[in-house]
Amino acid sequence: MDHTYQCACCGETNEVFLERAAGDRQQLVEDCAVCCRPMVITARWNDELEAFELDVYQEDRD
Ligand SMILES: [Zn+2]
Repeated sequence: MDHTYQCACCGETNEVFLERAAGDRQQLVEDCAVCCRPMVITARWNDELEAFELDVYQEDRD
């Protein structure tokens, strides 16, 4: 299932593919397609929305 998230650095909308079967809570690192900075994405399954809710922060914060 495709989800979108906003880059915590440049604000660009990116897409990430999350497998429902991989669990209710997942964490992954994706590079922004525009600024190439690594984003740590925490995904939590929401039963009501039937979608993952994503928290995104920038991995290298210096
Ligand atoms: Zn970015």
